[in-house]
Order: sequence, then C-alpha cells, then structure tokens
Amino acid sequence: MVQHLKHASSKSFADTGHTEVADRVRQIITEVRSEGDKAVRKYAELFDRQTAASFRVPEAHIAEIMDTLDQQIIDDIVFVQDQVRTFARAQRASMQDVEIETLPGVFLGHRHIPVQAVGSYIPGGKYPLTASAHMTIITAKVAGVPRVVACTPPIRGEVPAATIAAMKLAGADEIYLLGGVQAVASMALGTESMERVDMIAGPGNAYVAEAKRQLFGEIGIDLFAGPTEILIIADADADPFLIAVDLLSQAEHGPDSPAILVTTSARLGQWVLEYIERILPGMPTKDFAEPAWRDWGQVIVVDDLDQAYALGNRLAAEHVQVFTADPAAALMKMHNYGALFLGENTCVSYGDKVIGTNHVLPTLGAARYTGGLWVGKFLKTATYQYIENPVSAAELGRVCGRAARVELFDGHARAGDVRAWRHGGDDFDW
Ligand code: NAD
Repeated sequence: MVQHLKHASSKSFADTGHTEVADRVRQIITEVRSEGDKAVRKYAELFDRQTAASFRVPEAHIAEIMDTLDQQIIDDIVFVQDQVRTFARAQRASMQDVEIETLPGVFLGHRHIPVQAVGSYIPGGKYPLTASAHMTIITAKVAGVPRVVACTPPIRGEVPAATIAAMKLAGADEIYLLGGVQAVASMALGTESMERVDMIAGPGNAYVAEAKRQLFGEIGIDLFAGPTEILIIADADADPFLIAVDLLSQAEHGPDSPAILVTTSARLGQWVLEYIERILPGMPTKDFAEPAWRDWGQVIVVDDLDQAYALGNRLAAEHVQVFTADPAAALMKMHNYGALFLGENTCVSYGDKVIGTNHVLPTLGAARYTGGLWVGKFLKTATYQYIENPVSAAELGRVCGRAARVELFDGHARAGDVRAWRHGGDDFDW
C-alpha cells in the first residue's frame, strides 16, 4: 500500500509548464542565429541588466579578482577541485582504447577522442554556482578538450568573483560574463565575438536546459540537467531531523525543485513534516525553499523497502539518499538515479559542493537513460579497422559481395568483389 502524508500539487517532475519556456527559448535562439551579438546584448540587458559592449572577462580583470579574493575561498576552491580532478582522472584511466584481431590479420579498434571545443555553462541566476565550474571545466580538461569556453551570468548585476576564480583555476580558456539562453545560443551558434563550440555542458534553470535541448543535433550536449530533485528513501530508524534538513537543502535551489521522502514508517514521515515546519521559517533561502516544498514536496509511506526502491526507480530522481540499516543494498536494487548517497554520513550537499563526484546530473526522468556528467561525455568513442592478411581480405570480400547483394546494394557488393579478385584471384564481373 502507498499512502501520501503530503502530496505535491503536481505528481510528475515533467509537469512544470514547459510550453511557455520552450516558446521563449525558441524566440531567443532564432534572434541570436540571425542577429548575433545584437540579440545577445538585447537579452543580456533584459534579463540580467547587462550593458557591457563585450562580455568576455579580460585576463587583467581575472587577475585582479584572484588577487583580492579571500585566501580561504581560494584554498577551498583548490581543495574541492583536487577532489573532482582525482575522481575524473581515475574515470579517464578506466577508459582504455581497444584493438583486437578478430580473424587472422583483421584488426578492429576504437579510440576515445576528446571533443575539440566545449562550452561550459555555470549557472548563476539565483546563486553563484561556483562548484559547477569545477564539475564542467575540470572534467572537460581531464578528458583532454583543448578549448573550453565558460559562461556564467552576473548575479543581481554583480560579478560572481568566486565563480570567475574557480573558472580560471579549473583551466577555462575563455571566460564570459553571460547567462541564460543568450549564453547557450552564443556558444552553440557562434557570434561576432565568440567562436562556436562543438558541445555544451553544464546545468541550469528550465530556460538553459531547454536551450540545450533545442540546439541538440546542431551541437552536442552532455545531458538534460535542469532544476534539481532529491529523493530520500528511509526506514523507521533513520534520523528525521537529518532528513528534514537534507530535503530543504535541495528545495532551496529554486521553486521548481521537487523534494520527496519515501519511507516505510508513517511515524518517521510525520516527524519529518514537523521538523520541516520548524526549520523553514528560519531559512535565509525560504523564498525558494518554501514554495518548492509546498508545491513539490511529498512524503510517501510504503509497506517495505522493495516497494520504496521500485517507486524510486519509477521516479528516476537526480539525487537519491538512502537512510536505511543496509544502504549499500540500494546499489543492487536501484537502476534509475543520477547519483546515490549511501548512509547518513554523506548527503547531496557533499556531492554538490565538496566530495568530488560530479554534480551535473540528469533531471526530469532523464536518469532512465543516462548517468551524470563525467569524462566519458567529452570523449567520442570512434572506431577504426585495417587488414594485414590478403587471405582474410579476399574472404571478407566474398562475404561482403553476398551480404550486400541480399540488400540489393550492388555498389557495395562490387567493393567486396574487387578485393576478392585482387587478393584471391576470383572472377570480377565488370
Ligand atoms: P541560471 O544561470 O541557470 O539561469 C539564469 C539565467 O536565466 C539568467 O542569466 C537569465 O538570462 C535567464 N532567465 C531568467 N529569467 C528568464 C526568463 N523569464 N526568460 C528567459 N531567460 C530568463 O541560474 P538559476 O536561475 O539560478 O538556475 C540554476 C538552476 O540550476 C537551478 O534550477 C538548479 O536546480 C539547477 N542545477 C541543476 C543541477 C543538475 O545537475 N541538474 C546542478 C546544479 C544546479
């Protein structure tokens, strides 16, 4: 039995009024495509009150920011970037190139080739999301991407100094103070002042995520990483106070961020609801957290953990925290999630800010078909082949001739016939 102690006003992550967003995004992309920088300036002024002639942050300005920023902030950025880099390097090392001999003298292989130019979007509308700079830029650089362009918007008209420093320390080659659809479209399409990239990575609000979606095909994208989501699976012995704090930690991302508890204990669910009501009024970020919780928060009671995991797999949430007696069991029981946080000692905030796994993760059910951002997303796995043995070349030519004729591809068949003739002395029908 599934019982709701608290319902959301919408039950589906996807039901967030995206038609209006899609129309607006289409309009901005169309204008940037036809008018370039003129349209970029128009929308930067409209949405972010920017009037600068150029959005590229000059090296001298970056150096000034680095010199004046609090040393503790720099040290913490360096610490977190070390964690992200260490994990990304281990992931890169796990990706070996392949070459095997399938028949005598017949070699097939693949190489992981880095994308040559990546646009890294670092969100900054509501909060200066410094950590997203580590996640996107470092990961691209560890993958071997030669040119990384990084964009972030001003925050309430101000330059986000820590984010600019993080972009520089992460290794961005070009840094722009530019946000939203106008930034994504500039990177994807190119303008008079920005050379286009091959792929865009990074999270963002509904407008940014929709812009990436609409431009996919023309450029590559990492994944659909929109407004954040948290799901906590808890048994009766979990700590309700920790759960309440952790649910609200994600609700504060924005008013469209779902926070959901699935528990086997109605009593625990009730405690969590009470703690949330006590914590919310004192939260400095309650303007986002409160509407997110009221509209999207859910507390669901299920009969047992198997039912909880099944529901978790259906929701395919971005973040899943597991607070049970045996949290590691979730590794086997769950198959749809962006990232798992096993046990009460860790939490989504560690993943978001410090621990080193990537925080750019699939939302809106995209965890059904993709994991989060990692070095592999910046690498193209491209195959190659060659034949050193003429006997094998002739034999494959004969099979090719027959197989292609079954498909009525006579030109393909001749490419096989000619090799059977050349290497095997077969007849060739001109
Ligand atoms: P943002 O940088 O994504 O968006 C800010 C930009 O939105 C502005 O520069 C502006 O140009 C544009 N914008 C604002 N209102 C607009 C409108 N009405 N029409 C068109 N464009 C408009 O920053 P944000 O808004 O703070 O959002 C960050 C988002 O990133 C949050 O939703 C957060 O949950 C999400 N996030 C997701 C992940 C993930 O991996 N899925 C990770 C971190 C953050």
